[in-house]
Amino acid sequence: MRTLIVNGTVVTADGSVRADVLVDGEQVALVEPDLPARGVTAEATVDAAGRWVVPGAIDVHTHFELPLGGTAAKDTWATGTTAAAFGGTTTVIDFAAQQRGGSLRAGVDASLAQAEGRAAIDYGLHIMVSDVNDASLAEMDLLVADGVPTFKLFTAYPETTMSDDGAIYRAMRRAAVNGGLVMIHAENGLAIDAIVAENIALGRTEPVWHGRSRPAVLEGEATNRAIRLAEVAGVPVYIVHLSSRDALEEVRTARRRGTPAWAETCPQYLFLSLDDLDRPGFEGAKFVCSPPLRPRDHQEDLWDGLAAGDLQAVATDHCPFDFHGQKELGRGDFRRIPNGLPGIEDRVDLVHHGGVAAGRFGPERWVDIVATTPAKLFGLYPRKGTIAPGSDADLVIYDHARRRTISAATHHMNVDYSCYEGLEVQGAADLVMSRGAVLVRDGTWVGPAGHGRFLRRAPATFARGA
Ligand SMILES: [Zn+2]
Repeated sequence: MRTLIVNGTVVTADGSVRADVLVDGEQVALVEPDLPARGVTAEATVDAAGRWVVPGAIDVHTHFELPLGGTAAKDTWATGTTAAAFGGTTTVIDFAAQQRGGSLRAGVDASLAQAEGRAAIDYGLHIMVSDVNDASLAEMDLLVADGVPTFKLFTAYPETTMSDDGAIYRAMRRAAVNGGLVMIHAENGLAIDAIVAENIALGRTEPVWHGRSRPAVLEGEATNRAIRLAEVAGVPVYIVHLSSRDALEEVRTARRRGTPAWAETCPQYLFLSLDDLDRPGFEGAKFVCSPPLRPRDHQEDLWDGLAAGDLQAVATDHCPFDFHGQKELGRGDFRRIPNGLPGIEDRVDLVHHGGVAAGRFGPERWVDIVATTPAKLFGLYPRKGTIAPGSDADLVIYDHARRRTISAATHHMNVDYSCYEGLEVQGAADLVMSRGAVLVRDGTWVGPAGHGRFLRRAPATFARGA
């Protein structure tokens, strides 16, 4: 099956050009002007006039079906990846979890079993490491070889997943040998737990105290600590869900001294704030995630970081819980509110809206942030993250002028609210293709179910010293 996409502007991280795209089977065959006039034919032709043809976006931070606090993230592999596709995302990397006392492999196998035959788009896995010991360090080598080369460690959550500095250092040293990449959830969990206890003792149980118990300075501190450990270990480091200017400043400073420190932020930190956590009644629970939403004045610093290249990517940390029945578990005690927000469907449009439409950066930088750099950092480039002969035909025809209003009434995520309810954004995907198969056309699902395949990923494509 050959498909021609004609009359569009092909936008990649490297530039924008008027060109037609020939898709042959699952891959891009040609990206050149005037293909029909030159006699190139196909079984199907799609007119992209007035619109952009961009690489399918990549969300490197999702948590489908994650068990948490006696419940589980509401989106399944099927519903979450379907919602992703509606929003122009054609690849996800989800987090498998090592149980304390269990093996890394068992965690990966559990996620593979959940995803297989259910995921609508291609997927890779990271593994969350909660128990660094001789056995799990040895397993890291095997997982790198098996296409799971990325390991998330935590400086937060002492009760469940936190690693101490020695454990993080040991994992980083192992990554120095096997080529893996260590990702860090950077908040000072021990100090945060002490602050939480203080606030609970004072009767401060409302959702906003979740945010006030996790100050930005303790994200900055843990970010610096993780970067310093990586410097001593001689490895790059990737900071997940960076939320504050305090942490950004640590990444920026490290990069200026030549350290390969990379970081993602998330749409919630660009558009939402501590004010949302402080909404009246219990509504703030809809906005409980960790790190927490920050005072509004952090947002512009994060946008500046994206524009300047100090932040490399935007991922979602998609981990949705219904307001009714799930977030409500924490009525009267913010500690029991499941941490996590929905966002997988809206990320691409939100970054376009706040970045490109607002004039903060151009469309090429937008593509870089949501697709190309994630592909490079996570071992998928140039198969994913760009439009070039030989790359997978993961393509989005994007209408950068169309406006739409975000609402739980119309989204496809399996969750009963939207963090962005009523927000009108500029930019929307008209057609979404994964490996040559059209999944979404004009807001309607037209693709096969369970189309996604597991992606064995290589170690980061960026030079180790980049
Ligand atoms: Zn996460």
